[in-house]
Amino acid sequence: MIDLKDFEYDELIEYLESIGEKKFRAEQIFSWLHKGVESYSEMTNLSKTTREKLEKETYVSTLKIREKYVSKLDGTVKYLFELPDGNCIESVVMRYHHGLTICISSQVGCRMGCRFCASTIGGLYRSLTAGEILNQVIFAQKDIGERISNIVMMGIGEPLDNYDNVIRFLHNVNHEKGLNIGYRHISLSTCGIADKIYDLAKENLPITLTISLHAPNDAVRNTIMPVNHKYNVTELLKACKNYVDTTNRRLSFEYSLIHGVNDSIENARELAGLIKGLHSHVNLIPVNKVEERDYKQGSKADIRDFRDKLVSSGVNATIRRELGADISASCGQLRKKVL
Ligand code: SAH
Repeated sequence: MIDLKDFEYDELIEYLESIGEKKFRAEQIFSWLHKGVESYSEMTNLSKTTREKLEKETYVSTLKIREKYVSKLDGTVKYLFELPDGNCIESVVMRYHHGLTICISSQVGCRMGCRFCASTIGGLYRSLTAGEILNQVIFAQKDIGERISNIVMMGIGEPLDNYDNVIRFLHNVNHEKGLNIGYRHISLSTCGIADKIYDLAKENLPITLTISLHAPNDAVRNTIMPVNHKYNVTELLKACKNYVDTTNRRLSFEYSLIHGVNDSIENARELAGLIKGLHSHVNLIPVNKVEERDYKQGSKADIRDFRDKLVSSGVNATIRRELGADISASCGQLRKKVL
């Protein structure tokens, strides 16, 4: 059975024509799917025969809300969604003054092995389909009843390890007949699969690329991010520079500060030297505690000193504000608990 949300718009037209339906049906169906209908019977402007024809080979995929938490501190909503095969993924909706932002997952689990990350502890179960990635936005928006205007692909999984489905999802979520979320309102975060960063640069999508750097050199990065053995810091930054030159977009770096591992003033100086001159911004994140690991946050003063060193060295850097602290909103933590 085919999930129609795995088709891009043009493929949907082709499919409908192949079963003897008119082209204009694509617009109706695409728009219903993105509104979060859960069956063909809700598509009230389709004839009964059209619906019956669709039901033969295709279905309307849904996501079940298995758990939901709302932060009393800042209104952050965290979902544990259940997929049709029983696997679970997490999505988080955050309230910013510029609108609702959803953080979505791209895989069930992750095989990248970053030492500080909860999502990778059980390894990778499987990648999400394009429709499953999209359904997180559709069903969170339906549940909240307000428009979601921004997306960050920073949930569970490595988006560039599920490249084709992620690109398909991006095309669909941006489509004017669907949710119509602008590429400039979408960020994609990667641990640094350099080959795929070159591919992404060629897609001509003005999204924001975020690189989880977390270290200023190979010696430190090798100890916390196994992906660095495949693509080292030099190769990664070469891919980043190509991305900026090709797309003219500013790049973001994520740098989770782990006390005693990557948060010394010397580390800040080295980081500044590494990325100075690259059109970019650094988000500093005090590392979140993961039960299985004994990584610790530095003091507030350590974190400020690190930022100040970057800024005084000519690098744009800010400290990320924490949201949803009372509902363990940081990714991977909820799914792991349920498993
Ligand atoms: N796989 C992608 C996206 C998912 S993780 C990536 O690596 O970018 C989203 C961000 O959270 C990444 O920067 C990741 O390194 C960071 N992260 C994961 N666990 C963390 C933790 N315990 N504390 C702080 N940041 C963490």
